[in-house]
Amino acid sequence: MTDRKLAPESLAAQALGWIDEATRAVVPPIHLSTTYLRDPDNQYRSGRVYARADSPNYDQPEQLLATLEGGAAAMVFASGMAAATACFMALEPGDHVIVPKVMYWSLRNWLANFATRWGLRVEFLDMDRLDDVKAAMRPGTTKLIWAETPANPLWTISDTAALADLAHAAGARLAVDSTCATPVFSRPLELGADIVMHAATKYLNGHSDVIAGALIGRANDDHWQRLRTIRAQSGATLGALESFLLTRGMRTLFPRVRTAAANAQWLAERLAGHPLVETVLFPGLPSFEGHALAARQMTGGFGAMMSIRVKSSVTAGLSGEQTAIATAANVGLWKRATSLGGVESLIEHRASIEGAGTPAPADLLRLSVGIEAKEDLLADLEQALALAHRRNVA
Ligand SMILES: *Cc1c(COP(=O)(O)O)cnc(C)c1O
Repeated sequence: MTDRKLAPESLAAQALGWIDEATRAVVPPIHLSTTYLRDPDNQYRSGRVYARADSPNYDQPEQLLATLEGGAAAMVFASGMAAATACFMALEPGDHVIVPKVMYWSLRNWLANFATRWGLRVEFLDMDRLDDVKAAMRPGTTKLIWAETPANPLWTISDTAALADLAHAAGARLAVDSTCATPVFSRPLELGADIVMHAATKYLNGHSDVIAGALIGRANDDHWQRLRTIRAQSGATLGALESFLLTRGMRTLFPRVRTAAANAQWLAERLAGHPLVETVLFPGLPSFEGHALAARQMTGGFGAMMSIRVKSSVTAGLSGEQTAIATAANVGLWKRATSLGGVESLIEHRASIEGAGTPAPADLLRLSVGIEAKEDLLADLEQALALAHRRNVA
């Protein structure tokens, strides 16, 4: 064994190469105990007391995540929402936060409906308009900028390094929802972010069978300890089995995500010229508004999420919205479902799930590209588009 620094691919494949000390097993055991023995002298020398606060199941996935993101520490949570909301619950009523207009829908709803009632002053802005963000900063009162890049469901790219500078100049932190970028393509902490958040439900686990979240911190400081306390006290803790499955999923993170992203790039290029498709929203296309910025701050790919806006069907007398829904109705290989980041490809009429106030145009289909053969994915979409356009034609 040399002391050569191992590549992230090697560290992920072996989940840091941990061996169970007791059995020499190369796969970690699942610890189900909720409580830990107190020493006779009334101390807890193991450092563990009760599994709502901390669990040995977390050691491996948290250390792997901290390593992949280049952070000082990581924390797994019961869901992506639990991880994200912890960042806002760590603030005080009256604090001002800047969040994107285009962002993951459930968090947007929580911010608009719960966080505001709880006393946070939440300001929704276009995060790709740095002048607007700069003008909105209130030094001393603004405590957090929240960014998501690429952002659901339009894949808007925001400039992590520039936002970090704006945040820090005003004494605020920058947190980045990097769920769709993944640590394979982006390392926000290196660009200046203070906290990275993942819906580990998505690419990190990758198999649509675990709800989990994660935060990775630049520093293990007082603020980080406050986040740990929130996780323990609010009970936003990840289950033992989920923790095991997440670790297992992350072992194949790199090949899964790279295959999906290559499929997405290939599909986007073909769909961009498709006669039944109006627009393809995908950061990997040079025609996409945020492409140059994405190319600068992402490495090796642009992720595997895209949206297409379909043309209305004149022949079938369908609006763009009806054509989009009809297209989704006619897929076979693609699965009609919400969520993203699994090995299977999913298609979704996004406006239907987001409801009133959505930034998703009515003719938009969100595609989570999986690792199937790209030709099969394209053929299935093309036949579904063609069928939607032919519908109602005698
Ligand atoms: C799914 C998702 C979340 C929320 O994660 P859950 O595990 O569903 O709570 C947050 N942000 C993004 C970008 C997501 O895709």
